[in-house]
Amino acid sequence: LSKEAMQAYGYQVVDAIVNHHCTQGDQKPVALGSREEMDSLFLEEAPEKGTNPEQVLQFVLEEVMTNSTNMSHPKSYSFVPGPSNYVSVMADALATGYNIFSGGWAASPAAAELEIITIQWLLKIFGFPAKKGGGIFTSGGSMANLTALTTARRVKCGQDFSKAMIYLSDQAHSSNIKAIRVLGFKKEQIRIIPTDSEFKFSVNKLKNCIAKDRLEGLQPFCLIATSGTTNTGTVDPLLELAKICKKENIWFHIDGAYGAAAILSKKGKSLLKGIEKADSLTVDPHKWFFQPYEMGCLLVRNHKHLSQTFTEKPEYLRDIEGNTSEINFYDHGIQLTRRFRALKFYMSIKTFGLKEFRKAITFSIELAEEVENHLRSSQKWEVIFPATLAVINFRYHPIGKKYTQKQLDQFNQYISEQVVSSRKALLVTTLLHGQVVLRMCLINPRTSLSDVMETLGLCEHYAWEYTQKLQENN
Ligand code: PLP
Repeated sequence: LSKEAMQAYGYQVVDAIVNHHCTQGDQKPVALGSREEMDSLFLEEAPEKGTNPEQVLQFVLEEVMTNSTNMSHPKSYSFVPGPSNYVSVMADALATGYNIFSGGWAASPAAAELEIITIQWLLKIFGFPAKKGGGIFTSGGSMANLTALTTARRVKCGQDFSKAMIYLSDQAHSSNIKAIRVLGFKKEQIRIIPTDSEFKFSVNKLKNCIAKDRLEGLQPFCLIATSGTTNTGTVDPLLELAKICKKENIWFHIDGAYGAAAILSKKGKSLLKGIEKADSLTVDPHKWFFQPYEMGCLLVRNHKHLSQTFTEKPEYLRDIEGNTSEINFYDHGIQLTRRFRALKFYMSIKTFGLKEFRKAITFSIELAEEVENHLRSSQKWEVIFPATLAVINFRYHPIGKKYTQKQLDQFNQYISEQVVSSRKALLVTTLLHGQVVLRMCLINPRTSLSDVMETLGLCEHYAWEYTQKLQENN
C-alpha cells in the first residue's frame, strides 16, 4: 500500500472505532448467529488473488463486527464484561502498529521498563513489597493463574510433586482447575472445599482437610482463594486463609481476576483486607481496570520466584541476556514473544489518573447496591445474593404466588432466554445452591441505573408473557 492508501485505510478504521465507541449504547449488545449463518457469510477457500483493501474492510465492518457480541455495551451484564477505554484501544493500535517485541530488554528497553513501572504501580496498589515483589502481564486471568500455580509448584515442591496437594473452594474460577490439569496433577491431588452459606471458603473444613492430608503423608503446597468470585463477587476470608498458609508453609494464591481492582474504592479496600498477604495475585486489567482484551497480570511477593521458575538459557538468546539488573520478561513467564501490553495500562493511567479509575469503580459498586435496593422494594423480585463488588444475583418471584422450585427455575430461565433473544441485553443465568438465578455484573461505568431499570422492565414483560402461557396451558 502507498502512504496515501495506508492513511486513508487507517482513517477509516479509526472512524469506525470512534463511531462504535460513541454509538454503542444505541446498538444491540447481543449477536446471535448459527454456524450455518456464519458459514454462509464467511466460508471460502483462502483466496489466491487479493481483493481491494477497502472492500475487505467494508465487508468486515458490515459482517464481522455486527455479528460479534459487544461486552463493553452498557447492557452487557453477563459473565465479566469488558468495559474497555478508548485511550487504551489506541495504545494497543500503537503497540501493534509498531509491532514491539515485549519479551526482553535488548529488544525494547522502553517496553521492559514500562512493564516494570506499571507492575510497580500495581504492587503498591495491592500492598505487595515494592523491592522484592514483581509480576508479569499475561493474556488474561487464566494464563495468570497457570503462571501462578506453575511458580507455586516449583517453589514448594521442586521436581517431585507426586504427593503435592492443592486446595480451592467450589466457587473458584474454572481456569484454576484447568491450570491444575494442564500442570499434570491427578484428580486425587485436588481438594475442592465446600463453601459456606455466603459462598466463602469454609475455613474449618479446610483446616480439617489439610490435617487429614498431612496424617496421610501428603504434601499440602498451595491454596487458591478468590477475591471476587465470578458467581457472587464474594471475597474469601483472606486474613484467616493467609494465617493457615503461613502456619502450614502453603503457597497462598489469590485469584482476584475480576474483583481485586475494587481495592481502588473505599468499600473494596475494606472487603479485600488480607490481599497483601498473598504469595501471588491474579488481577485482570481487561476486566475492572478497563483495558481492552487481552491483558491479565500476575503479581508475586518475590520476583525471583518467577525467574527461578521460567528461566531458560538457549544459545540463540545468549547475546541479548543483558546484565542482572535488567528484566527479560520471557524469563518471568511462559511466552517468549509477547505483545506490548504495558503500553495501554501506562497510557490510560497517565491520561485519566488513578482518581478516575477509583471514581468509576466506586460508581459501579454503588450502582449494584441501588439495584439491590430497587429489587428488595419490589413485589416481583427476590434478591438471592446481595450486591457484592458490583455483582448482584436475583430472580423473578412475585410475593404471594406459590411456585415450586422447578417452576421458578423455568420462569427465570425463560426470562433470560427471551431477553437474550431480543438482543436488547445480555443477561444470562447462573446456579446458586442449585437455583436458577439472574446475575448482573455491573462493572461497566457506562451502565446507568436507567439501563438496568429498562432491562428489568423487559424481564417483567417476559415474566408476564410466561404467566400467560402457563394460564393457557392450564
Ligand atoms: N478468575 C476469575 C475470578 C474470573 O472471573 C475469570 C474470568 O471471568 C478468570 C479467572 C479467567 O480470566 P480470563 O477470562 O481473563 O482468562
